[in-house]
Amino acid sequence: MIAAPTAAVIAEMQRYADSVGLVLTTRCTRCKAPLWNPKSLHHHLGPVCRAKENGLDTPAKKSVQTVTGTRSNG
Ligand SMILES: [Zn+2]
Repeated sequence: MIAAPTAAVIAEMQRYADSVGLVLTTRCTRCKAPLWNPKSLHHHLGPVCRAKENGLDTPAKKSVQTVTGTRSNG
C-alpha cells in the first residue's frame, strides 16, 4: 500500500512541479490510470475507482428497491 501524502505535501509538490513546468501525477492504485486531480492524488484513486472503493457498487448497478405501500381507503 502506498502511503497517501497529506494535502499540504501535495500542495507543496504541485507548487514546485508548477514552478519547473511539470505536472504532478500519481497512478490510480486500482486501474493504474494517471491522476492529477488534487483529490485523486490524495487518495491514489480516480473518481470512478474511488466510488467503487467507497460503495463497492456503482450508481448504475444500484438495485431497485421497491417500497410497497398498501393504500387503504378508509
Ligand atoms: Zn482507477
